[in-house]
This record gives sequence, structure tokens and C-alpha cells, in this order.
Amino acid sequence: MQKQGKVILPKGKKVAVNLGLDFDAQSIWDGSYNLLSPAYMSRGEFCAEVGAPRFLKLFDKYQIKNTWFIPGHTADTFPQICKEVIAAGHEIGCHGYVHENPTKLSYEQEANVMKMSLASLDKIGAPKPVTYRSPYWDFSPNTLEIIEKNGFLYDSSLMGNDLHPYLPRPVKTHSDRANEFGEPSKIIELPVSWFLDDFPQTEYLTGGQEGQRPANDIFDRWASIFDYARTLEGACYILTMHPQASGRAHMIQMVERLINYMAERGAWFATCKEIGENIVFD
Ligand SMILES: [Zn+2]
Repeated sequence: MQKQGKVILPKGKKVAVNLGLDFDAQSIWDGSYNLLSPAYMSRGEFCAEVGAPRFLKLFDKYQIKNTWFIPGHTADTFPQICKEVIAAGHEIGCHGYVHENPTKLSYEQEANVMKMSLASLDKIGAPKPVTYRSPYWDFSPNTLEIIEKNGFLYDSSLMGNDLHPYLPRPVKTHSDRANEFGEPSKIIELPVSWFLDDFPQTEYLTGGQEGQRPANDIFDRWASIFDYARTLEGACYILTMHPQASGRAHMIQMVERLINYMAERGAWFATCKEIGENIVFD
């Protein structure tokens, strides 16, 4: 059985909300898509130079602290804006070096990517991260062990639950008999969902993904999931946005509307670390 947790919320609050940002910038076009032309690099440039400052301004207006998952490559390429994120008091999470797909890496390669990404975050002055998010939201069979060994306390990449934290278990797969779960990890999973991710819903990828869904549709889905979370005890709502996607004009206004909607209905806006520190297991 999955071991599920509950968030102990501040008095009067109904749901813990992390308005997290994956600050992928140019790394996503390199590590995930191998698209290195100046046009794709300009989309990453928009993320760092336009989208990220818009989010910093928005969070400052509402005095909200969040988790920014920064690949090492973003920290190395755009150090100034990353330092501004740190100076604003947000949590910095670890998110690979150049947005590598972990399932394509050997144990040694994956451990080395972790070392490189932590070194780059250290170089820009980030406190040692306690929250990990895998690029691609995928795990290799070695990922859980590597993040345990590197001292992480929280992970936010898996989908074994949607609105409650839980302890992830290694899984051995068999196609001719039952799969086997191992013992639960000490890492606390703050689960994600493709329905609470802006990228597939908004960004256009030539020949693949249309994106371009109207912002109001996305608001309706995100608000409806929040309304359900309010009916549960000790729920957490982990939203994943990208400055590249939700930093655009039509989206950033919708995000502001969502912040107001949630604030009026008992959201406790917090970083993954703050949420993690307030979780209990029965
Ligand atoms: Zn990412």
C-alpha cells in the first residue's frame, strides 16, 4: 500500500499551493528536443529575459514565495536573473544540468549530471537544494537512489497520487508476472500532474504539439482541481509553470486571476520545502 501523508495547514487555510516554476530557458531545447537553432534559443531567451522577470514581479506583488527548479545550464547561461530569484527569497530546486532524459543515462552519467547541476547552483549562491524535480518528469531505475544519496528531502516528479504527498517506492517491472514494489523511500513525493502543467497546453512545437489552448480553459481546469482539493483534508496542489509558457501576456494575466481566486478560497501559498516541513504520515 502507498504511504500517504497530509499537510498540516496554517489556521484558516484549506490547501497548500506551490506555484512552482521550471526555469528551463534554453536547456529544454537542447537536452529534451535537440533543437539548437537561434530561433529555439530565442524562445529560451524569452524565458529568462522576459518571462522570469514578469513572474518575479507578480510574486512580489502578492508576497508569494515559490520553488524555482533551475537546471545547471540555466544558472550558467543566465546567472544574473537566477541570482535575482535567490535574492527574492524563493526556494531553488534541482532540475538536471541540460534537461537530460534520465532514462537514457547510465548510473555514472546520471550521478555526474547531478554533480554538475549542484555545482552550477552553488556557483550562483543558491542554498543547497532539498527539493528535486527530474527533467521530463521521468525516473531511471537509479534516480531514486541518486537523489537519496545526494541528501534531498523532497521530490516533485512522480504521479502516484495527485493531491496528497506520499513516499515513493522503487518498482521492478515484469511483463510475465506481477510487478514488485520495494520499501518506501524516505524522500517525500509532492506529486505532479500533466493536467497541472502549462507546457503541453500552451506551447507550440512544430510538427508535434499544437498547444495554444485558450487561457480561460486552462483557468477553468486549474481552478476546478483546486476546488476539489479544498474538499480533502491536508491536500497539496503542486502547479508546474514555465516562464517560457506562462510568462506570455495572455497567460501571466490568467495566473494573476488564479492567485486571487485561490487566495479568496483558503490557499496557503508556500515553497515545496515549507510544504514538506509540514507533512505528517499516519
Ligand atoms: Zn523542466
